Amino acid sequence: MTTQTMDSLRSKVNGPVIGPADPAFEDVRKVYNFMIDRRPAAIVRCQTADDVVAVVRHATDAGAELAVRGGAHSVPGFGTADGAIVIDLAQLSAVSVNPTNRTATVGGGATWGGFNDAAAAHGLATTGGIVSTTGVGGLTLGGGIGYLARGYGLSCDNLLSAQVVTAAGEILTVSAEENADLFWAIRGGGGNFGIVTEFTFRMHPVAQIYGGPMFFELADGPAVLAHFDEFIRTAPREYGGFPGFHLAPPLPFVPEDRVGDPLVAVVSCWTGSMADGEKIVASLREVARPVAEHVGPMPYAALNSAFDALVPRGLQHYWKAAYIRDLPAEAIDIHLRHGALVPNVSCAVHLYPVNGACHDVGAAETAFGHRDATYAAVIAGMWPDAVENDANIRWVKDYYAAITPHTLAGGYVNFASADDQSKVAENYGSNFARLREVKRRYDPSNVFHHNQNIEP
Ligand SMILES: Cc1cc2nc3c(=O)[nH]c(=O)nc-3n(C[C@H](O)[C@H](O)[C@H](O)COP(=O)(O)OP(=O)(O)OC[C@H]3O[C@@H](n4cnc5c(N)ncnc54)[C@H](O)[C@@H]3O)c2cc1C
Repeated sequence: MTTQTMDSLRSKVNGPVIGPADPAFEDVRKVYNFMIDRRPAAIVRCQTADDVVAVVRHATDAGAELAVRGGAHSVPGFGTADGAIVIDLAQLSAVSVNPTNRTATVGGGATWGGFNDAAAAHGLATTGGIVSTTGVGGLTLGGGIGYLARGYGLSCDNLLSAQVVTAAGEILTVSAEENADLFWAIRGGGGNFGIVTEFTFRMHPVAQIYGGPMFFELADGPAVLAHFDEFIRTAPREYGGFPGFHLAPPLPFVPEDRVGDPLVAVVSCWTGSMADGEKIVASLREVARPVAEHVGPMPYAALNSAFDALVPRGLQHYWKAAYIRDLPAEAIDIHLRHGALVPNVSCAVHLYPVNGACHDVGAAETAFGHRDATYAAVIAGMWPDAVENDANIRWVKDYYAAITPHTLAGGYVNFASADDQSKVAENYGSNFARLREVKRRYDPSNVFHHNQNIEP
């Protein structure tokens, strides 16, 4: 970008514009996944919706590439692109909670940590992700899966309205009453349709939860996973935990001689009474004796940030996504074979239940692709050193290939990789055709294409 163009861009916005000549550029250009090494033309730290409008208009007038970044957690690095103008929404992170009507409005670049803390001050929460540094924006637009999903639905199911800057540079309010087609599309369709500068969510009375992680021997895996699969079908909606595989982390509650061992994990979150939570967790102990556990009452916001330290900014990431209906013995066997090979302490395989309240919403009511799944699974390769890329990526690919016969078509768009673009139609499922129609209406030139892209 020439100095003149840069000056012109700077003159149109309140927020700072950071270009390759700025000392901050090298750090600011990076996203959460350090495998992504892109050099945008400029990064605009927007401070208002008007800043966002100005950048969209500037980019479209100049025919420049545009990328949009909220929490910057996209594993494929959709929040940046070589030569693009990046709209960085991080400064749009204000949260305003209305405890009377149980709603909360949050800026399009907020993270779940900031949002949960503000809501916790009123004893409220809504469904968000399990790591607090993830962006509210990208996570909600793709659906939004977390501890509260069985009880209260996906994050996008709790969205009441949003303020969206369109590809034409207009600011629209979207809700069930206004611009309902766009409101439908942004609830699961990802960042394909515009830039959300503000989300308003329905909130729920969630303060203290009973939960935390338990780790079991691999030898107990068949019993633990079979029990979980049966339990979760009819489990009370107050239960929002998930099973998975991890290497035992170096944390005080893990016996020193077990750190680094591959184990089966069950992370629980119970939003009902503490006494009932204790009973539910005790029922897991009846299936097998845990190797280690750290379970008890804690604030919801504390559980939401409990694993942040295992996944700091700067790791290398490669992930795969799958939807699963059930876990027959044959599938459990495959999970155990590949789960036993977890290569790194930050790597994780999680099977997030998406039944309960997620199934109360009809398949066509929002754009989210798969209301028929019981689990949204992620095989999350996360490791610190780029020299280990081949080995970690191989583990993720082998695991994914092995379980594919036991999965539904497609995967959760927010867990899918850059090399999953060919699966876009499957990922959005039966809503894909309608999503394309809305895309043609609001973004016919595909301005917003750094995402699991729905071509107009
Ligand atoms: C450590 C980690 C934990 C995770 N845990 C969960 C989890 O528990 N549950 C879950 O559902 N997902 C989870 N995810 C996946 C997560 O939902 C996606 O990575 C999501 O894209 C992150 O959103 P972001 O705003 O941080 O990302 P970004 O990289 O900023 O953006 C991702 C995409 O969303 C678009 N986007 C972001 N904000 C906006 C906005 N305001 N308006 C328009 N477009 C926008 C971007 O253009 C881009 O295409 C996790 C990811 C990581 C890395």
